[in-house]
Amino acid sequence: MLKTHTCGQLRASDVGSQVTLAGWVHRRRDHGNLVFIDLRDRWGITQVVVNPQESSPAYEAATALRNEFVVRVRGTVRQRPEGLENPKMSTGEIEVVAHEVEILNEAKTPIFYVNEDTEVDEALRLRYRYLDLRRERMQRNMILRHEVVRFIREFLSARDFVEIETPILIKSTPEGARDYVVPSRLHPGCFYALPQSPQQLKQLLMVSGFERYFQIARCFRDEDQRADRQPEFTQLDVEMSFVDRDDVMALTEELFAALVPAVSTKRVLHSPFPRFTYAEAMERYGSDKPDIRFGMTLIDLSAVLRETEFRVFANALAAGGQVKAIVAPGCADYTRRQLDELTEQAKGHGAKGLAWIALRAGETRSSFGKYVSDAEMGAILERTGAQEGDLVLLVADARDAVAETLGQLRLTLGRRLDLLDDDVLGFAWITDFPLLEWDAEEGRYSAVHHPFTAALDEDLPFLETDPGRVRAKAYDIVANGYEVGGGSIRIHRREVQNRMFRAIGLSDEEAQAQFGHLLEAFEFGAPPHGGIAPGIDRLVMLLAGEPNIREVMAFPKSQSAVDLMTQAPSSISERQLRELHIKLDL
Ligand code: ASP
Repeated sequence: MLKTHTCGQLRASDVGSQVTLAGWVHRRRDHGNLVFIDLRDRWGITQVVVNPQESSPAYEAATALRNEFVVRVRGTVRQRPEGLENPKMSTGEIEVVAHEVEILNEAKTPIFYVNEDTEVDEALRLRYRYLDLRRERMQRNMILRHEVVRFIREFLSARDFVEIETPILIKSTPEGARDYVVPSRLHPGCFYALPQSPQQLKQLLMVSGFERYFQIARCFRDEDQRADRQPEFTQLDVEMSFVDRDDVMALTEELFAALVPAVSTKRVLHSPFPRFTYAEAMERYGSDKPDIRFGMTLIDLSAVLRETEFRVFANALAAGGQVKAIVAPGCADYTRRQLDELTEQAKGHGAKGLAWIALRAGETRSSFGKYVSDAEMGAILERTGAQEGDLVLLVADARDAVAETLGQLRLTLGRRLDLLDDDVLGFAWITDFPLLEWDAEEGRYSAVHHPFTAALDEDLPFLETDPGRVRAKAYDIVANGYEVGGGSIRIHRREVQNRMFRAIGLSDEEAQAQFGHLLEAFEFGAPPHGGIAPGIDRLVMLLAGEPNIREVMAFPKSQSAVDLMTQAPSSISERQLRELHIKLDL
């Protein structure tokens, strides 16, 4: 090694030792006849003092140093002078008096500060990602990510899971999103696809008898980028045989409950994790990935307003919709402007409007007070439990619009009122999702989870007669408003799988062409099986307290799916195209 110690290692007990350190110049301070260098490596920062009396060549070299130069320092550890210790640094008791300073490499002035956590334009950070990753925050995130993955590997290995790699070049068998495809040179006109997930392969491994499989798996989905999506991402892919939903959920819960305190300072809010059916989550939180760190749940007022003559409410109810409310504590003094702003937001989420009641001291004001009876107003207040000082926000609309609008307003207000504890991870399970949803564009049903998910036993008979009412043996794990993972018990019988494919509009011939391998495998003794796939990126993001997954990926792509550092995707040569039998039509 070019160094004897790391820059985070030396303590008072090392005083007097001869050491060699190597790293980057974090900061250099020139005090006339004395140069101080903060020397940084992955483990920390050590203060180096260069004094011309000790060594004039060392002093010469030190005066030439700039931030981010790579240097090696030989010197003696000494106690810092009385009063100059820095308790904030792990090496703050000591400094190294340099005998020799060797410049291993120079550095241009960095494009942005590496030694400060300042706001830097993200495009610039991604363009110079290697510099960005040098920053303390990113180093911390990458190391946390490593620890998460290591913990998972050890946890599952200790429970007899086998890690098996599955191929990246596979057959294109759409699972819901668009595939990334790779042209085959040896088979002109044919393409591989990159896996959207190892879903079918892990099921085939269950047919092979592995019983307990996992993989830290890279997944690829060619979707339009949303804030929290990346074209490639990593998931912990798990599959188990001879299990029911509770087994997979218990294992996942045990893993997360052990992982969180092992790698972070965060607390798990509730253990066991609360469970909500999809219907309950939508009713209470207006979302299938609820943030359960705070209350302010949605209250259904439809029953107490059944007889109302107020047209807005009556019309919504007559059309099969709902009237629901949330109570924002302490917001009764909201100004007209603040209320207008919330109304605009409500409209942005698809509601026709927003009604409100402000319970101010001594007077109750409401946007609709004169249209409802005193008894109705009384019933609303009773049902919502609103107190003096509260603001009640009501939406009357179709179910989906009510859920979406109040669910989003709840989050906005929860954040604004500082009800979201950042030190806490509020895990919860969502179960009993619908198996199928109607795709109006395609004019057919499609799988909510994926087409390999089993139906609840009692609902399976309705697969052909009333597909929309069939619930799935699926479960999502959510935390702080994010979906952290999803899974299901799978279909393991060929005839049921065929029925499912028919239900989503695939003929038996089409199913055979696309999924023949799986259907055939089911004829050779497929065990009952199920699994889950938590997203590693999202999990690390939550553990690190970062706002998006790019902060916990070493080399993420931009919002428009471009690698700003290497400029991928890029064109390829004529020769490459010819070899692939590809003609561009641009
Ligand atoms: N393959 C699924 C997904 O990627 C997860 C699972 O069902 O295990 O969402």
